Amino acid sequence: MSMTYERAVEILDPQHREHYPSIEPVNEACRMGMEALKKQIPTAPALSGDGFADGALVYDTWECPNCGKQYEVEYEKHDYCPSCGQAIDWSENHG
Ligand SMILES: [Zn+2]
Repeated sequence: MSMTYERAVEILDPQHREHYPSIEPVNEACRMGMEALKKQIPTAPALSGDGFADGALVYDTWECPNCGKQYEVEYEKHDYCPSCGQAIDWSENHG
């Protein structure tokens, strides 16, 4: 990305006063703010598995719905994706 997070925060600050020659930097700051906020909305992970136990498929892998990084359900059940910061909703899956 071209704009730094620091610059985006400055533009999004309601106290900040600046005359912009075009709407582009404002749009870019809004886009970055939106992307950051979307990660705060808990989203269910995609679960997958390749093994069976007692006749039922065992879901041993979950995938971040934002960045697609895969983790092991048993050892890496994070509330936030360590890779991108996406909030993960575990309420529907194997609570
Ligand atoms: Zn992620």
